[in-house]
Amino acid sequence: MEWLDPDDPGYDAARRIWNGMHDRRPARIGRCHASADVVEALRFARSAGLEVSVRGGGHNVAGTALADGAVMIDLSPMRQVTVDPKRQVAYAAGGCLLADLDTATTAHGLVCPTGIISQTGLGGLALGGGYGWLSRRWGLTCDHILAAEVVLADGSVVTASPDSHPDLLWALRGGGGNFGVVTRFTLRLRQATPLTSHTAVYGLDQAPEALEAYRTFTGKLSADLHIGGGFKIAGAYPGRDGWLPEGLRGRPVLSLTAVWFGRPEEAAGAIEPFLDAARPAASIRRTPTHVELQAAGDHERPVGNRYYTKSSYLDDLTAPVFEQLVATADGIPSPLSSVQLEYLRGAVADVAEEDSAFPGRNAPYIYTVSSQWTDPATDHTHIGWTRDAVARLAPYSYGGAYVNYLQDEPRAKVAEVYGATRLARLAAVKAAYDPDNVFHLNQNIPPAEA
Ligand code: FAD
Repeated sequence: MEWLDPDDPGYDAARRIWNGMHDRRPARIGRCHASADVVEALRFARSAGLEVSVRGGGHNVAGTALADGAVMIDLSPMRQVTVDPKRQVAYAAGGCLLADLDTATTAHGLVCPTGIISQTGLGGLALGGGYGWLSRRWGLTCDHILAAEVVLADGSVVTASPDSHPDLLWALRGGGGNFGVVTRFTLRLRQATPLTSHTAVYGLDQAPEALEAYRTFTGKLSADLHIGGGFKIAGAYPGRDGWLPEGLRGRPVLSLTAVWFGRPEEAAGAIEPFLDAARPAASIRRTPTHVELQAAGDHERPVGNRYYTKSSYLDDLTAPVFEQLVATADGIPSPLSSVQLEYLRGAVADVAEEDSAFPGRNAPYIYTVSSQWTDPATDHTHIGWTRDAVARLAPYSYGGAYVNYLQDEPRAKVAEVYGATRLARLAAVKAAYDPDNVFHLNQNIPPAEA
């Protein structure tokens, strides 16, 4: 166990998280190397009467890993992953990043569906849901949690599995970091396939036609094909995207990437009908490895910039929605900001709603307005643009939201996200495992009253 106090060298580096908006000073940082360290950090915090925050990959946009005056249980030294290729199972420590998992599993030709930025923490992502390129094919990351070793609020260590604390396992599959500190995930793995990706870029004038094609195409999409993307400024990252024509650079565009998971010779047949439905201004075909695909967007979300994100589900992609999206993109105030759009369903919707704590499995589309900038003096401009964008799209919402993208919403939003029945079940599990709400620096589910 390594304790870092405010005067110690390394304290400032250890309190840095992904979103530079959150400059907070914990009372102490407990850098944990094993579950026994987590137990020690928790015991110290409770005996000192201090709040507890938990840091996995530090990528939560709301910055819940970090709080002024709290004890931060820092899992970032715990990044070991081992793979049992015969059983197709990975054992991943609670602080590992998606990149750690991908590197270990692909060495055996296996993968676990996760998110699309490889520097994101597995802990926060998996406990809140976890969707990405492979979700339509295989489901959410939380659907792949077979078991978890958890340090509970009272300092005991339990394993949640179908045979032991099944109520806890249910809650960990989508209920976030409310129930304890997960020190080890046991994850189901899938057979990796070859990948073919095709990125198509459209000018804003072409965007409505392209979105109409996207909508038509997604209605009959094979689970082996995933198409996602959104609006951004073309060529915003120097030295990248050299294939983009000069005329598009610096301008807002719609960029959609289709990824085919299967035999490369079948990729063209699967993707070309979509590209033919609305001809892009530019496009590029690639055959990335799984690790390359997972890291392809990392440079667009560097650590330390200022971020403000709002996200919601969309009922449908209709003409009024296209209009609002294009108007939002036309006014992007920062070359680093974007609006991501993705069609979900597929295997995500194949799991019964009551089988896990994750809500909203049937939501068709998810959009995320993601502002990114560097100058604190311009915070209001970027936050304002994000809020305006969400207000424009609110009339077309499916309802609910993805808990991992909540930022500064009122507490009541968490209740809305889970809905009354699911929330009552989660609150009962919380009361059983964390009756004093020790783990409350998160998208909090208070314990049910006795
Ligand atoms: P942290 O900030 O370290 O932790 C957030 C919270 O999670 C903590 O407060 C704690 O409550 C809990 N937590 C973390 N680890 C543990 C643990 N081991 N045990 C108990 N509680 C824990 N989500 C997707 O589904 N798909 C995506 O493609 C995706 N892309 C993203 C890209 C970027 C650039 C970012 C910033 C976020 C993205 N997300 C995505 C959202 C992501 O799932 C959440 O931000 C998630 O909270 C990140 O987890 P973390 O461990 O890095 O976060």
